[in-house]
Amino acid sequence: MNSCIFCKIAAKQIPSNLLYESDRVLAFPDIGPQAPVHLLIIPKAHYAHLGEIPDEQLGVVEEMFTVARKLAADKGVQDRGYRLVMNVNPEGGQTVFHVHLHLLAGRPMGPSLIG
Ligand code: AMP
Ligand code: ZN
Repeated sequence: MNSCIFCKIAAKQIPSNLLYESDRVLAFPDIGPQAPVHLLIIPKAHYAHLGEIPDEQLGVVEEMFTVARKLAADKGVQDRGYRLVMNVNPEGGQTVFHVHLHLLAGRPMGPSLIG
């Protein structure tokens, strides 16, 4: 989708510090980090929110979680702990309408959803 910021990152139209890339998935740092480690894991294909991913393509969500736990291990936060968050649609707090998984770590997350 032309106007989507994460599609532009996926298309390399906007430079980003890519931490992971496969045929289907990308990971890069969040531009406004809410924790010492704040990464985003996205499908390359544009789906506005989780509910838009067709059932037969949900394997991409599995890959996103696989990447998240790999990056958590790579960043050395696996044992201390980390938080994975996916906001879905406006009342879920979603502001960028291209599916993404937040990986937050490096400080106690506390009881709130994103800290
Ligand atoms: P959400 O509120 O779940 O939709 O989160 C969107 C996230 O995208 C926010 O944490 C933003 O800081 C982040 N973000 C927006 N634009 C960019 C960008 N160009 N590169 C990296 N992260 C971004
Ligand atoms: Zn997009």
